[in-house]
Amino acid sequence: MDCKEFERMIPDYIAGRMDHQSLKKFSEHMENCRDCQEELTIQFLVTEGVSRLEDGSVFDLQGELDERLKAGKKKIRRYDRFLKAGLALEAAAAGCLAAAILWFLI
Ligand SMILES: [Zn+2]
Repeated sequence: MDCKEFERMIPDYIAGRMDHQSLKKFSEHMENCRDCQEELTIQFLVTEGVSRLEDGSVFDLQGELDERLKAGKKKIRRYDRFLKAGLALEAAAAGCLAAAILWFLI
Protein backbone atom coordinates (compact mmCIF):
# COMPACT_ATOMS: atom_id res chain seq x y z
CA MET A 1 0.00 0.00 0.00
CA ASP A 2 1.24 3.48 -0.69
CA CYS A 3 0.69 6.78 1.08
CA LYS A 4 -2.32 7.70 -1.04
CA GLU A 5 -4.22 4.70 0.27
CA PHE A 6 -3.32 5.46 3.85
CA GLU A 7 -4.40 9.05 3.41
CA ARG A 8 -7.81 7.81 2.29
CA MET A 9 -8.05 5.75 5.48
CA ILE A 10 -7.49 8.72 7.77
CA PRO A 11 -11.16 9.76 8.11
CA ASP A 12 -12.08 6.19 9.08
CA TYR A 13 -9.30 6.16 11.62
CA ILE A 14 -10.46 9.41 13.16
CA ALA A 15 -14.05 8.19 13.24
CA GLY A 16 -12.90 4.93 14.83
CA ARG A 17 -14.28 2.86 11.94
CA MET A 18 -11.45 0.53 11.10
CA ASP A 19 -11.09 -3.22 11.28
CA HIS A 20 -8.14 -4.83 12.99
CA GLN A 21 -6.08 -5.57 9.90
CA SER A 22 -6.42 -2.07 8.50
CA LEU A 23 -5.73 -0.52 11.89
CA LYS A 24 -2.58 -2.56 12.20
CA LYS A 25 -1.26 -1.57 8.77
CA PHE A 26 -2.32 2.00 9.35
CA SER A 27 -0.58 2.30 12.72
CA GLU A 28 2.60 0.71 11.42
CA HIS A 29 2.68 3.06 8.50
CA MET A 30 2.00 6.09 10.67
CA GLU A 31 4.97 5.21 12.82
CA ASN A 32 7.31 5.17 9.88
CA CYS A 33 5.98 7.84 7.57
CA ARG A 34 6.37 11.51 8.44
CA ASP A 35 4.19 12.70 5.58
CA CYS A 36 1.22 10.62 6.63
CA GLN A 37 1.72 11.57 10.27
CA GLU A 38 1.47 15.20 9.27
CA GLU A 39 -1.60 14.52 7.17
CA LEU A 40 -3.22 12.62 10.02
CA THR A 41 -2.43 15.40 12.48
CA ILE A 42 -3.92 18.03 10.20
CA GLN A 43 -7.07 16.04 9.50
CA PHE A 44 -7.47 15.12 13.15
CA LEU A 45 -7.09 18.72 14.27
CA VAL A 46 -9.57 19.92 11.66
CA THR A 47 -12.15 17.18 12.25
CA GLU A 48 -11.99 17.14 16.03
CA GLY A 49 -11.28 20.84 16.32
CA VAL A 50 -14.45 21.76 14.49
CA SER A 51 -16.66 19.51 16.59
CA ARG A 52 -14.97 20.76 19.74
CA LEU A 53 -15.49 24.36 18.76
CA GLU A 54 -19.16 23.60 18.40
CA ASP A 55 -19.48 22.28 21.94
CA GLY A 56 -16.91 24.76 23.21
CA SER A 57 -14.32 22.33 24.53
CA VAL A 58 -11.02 22.59 22.70
CA PHE A 59 -8.50 20.52 24.60
CA ASP A 60 -4.99 19.46 23.90
CA LEU A 61 -5.79 17.83 20.58
CA GLN A 62 -2.22 17.01 19.61
CA GLY A 63 -1.85 15.22 22.95
CA GLU A 64 -5.10 13.41 22.36
CA LEU A 65 -3.95 12.19 18.97
CA ASP A 66 -0.72 10.88 20.49
CA GLU A 67 -2.76 9.09 23.14
CA ARG A 68 -4.98 7.60 20.51
CA LEU A 69 -2.06 6.29 18.47
CA LYS A 70 -0.56 4.75 21.60
CA ALA A 71 -3.86 3.19 22.65
CA GLY A 72 -4.29 1.76 19.15
CA LYS A 73 -0.91 0.07 19.33
CA LYS A 74 -1.75 -1.46 22.70
CA LYS A 75 -5.05 -2.72 21.34
CA ILE A 76 -3.29 -4.32 18.36
CA ARG A 77 -0.78 -6.08 20.59
CA ARG A 78 -3.56 -7.39 22.81
CA TYR A 79 -5.56 -8.59 19.82
CA ASP A 80 -2.54 -10.36 18.34
CA ARG A 81 -1.92 -12.13 21.63
CA PHE A 82 -5.59 -13.06 21.74
CA LEU A 83 -5.40 -14.51 18.22
CA LYS A 84 -2.30 -16.51 19.11
CA ALA A 85 -3.97 -17.84 22.26
CA GLY A 86 -6.98 -18.77 20.14
CA LEU A 87 -4.80 -20.68 17.68
CA ALA A 88 -3.06 -22.51 20.52
CA LEU A 89 -6.42 -23.45 22.00
CA GLU A 90 -7.63 -24.67 18.64
CA ALA A 91 -4.51 -26.78 18.18
CA ALA A 92 -4.97 -28.20 21.68
CA ALA A 93 -8.60 -28.97 20.97
CA ALA A 94 -7.68 -30.66 17.69
CA GLY A 95 -5.05 -32.66 19.55
CA CYS A 96 -7.59 -33.80 22.14
CA LEU A 97 -10.04 -34.77 19.45
CA ALA A 98 -7.39 -36.80 17.61
CA ALA A 99 -6.45 -38.51 20.88
CA ALA A 100 -10.10 -39.28 21.61
CA ILE A 101 -10.61 -40.75 18.13
CA LEU A 102 -7.46 -42.83 18.47
CA TRP A 103 -8.55 -44.05 21.88
CA PHE A 104 -11.95 -44.92 20.45
CA LEU A 105 -10.47 -46.83 17.51
CA ILE A 106 -7.88 -48.80 19.44
ZN1 LIG B 1 2.87 7.53 4.13
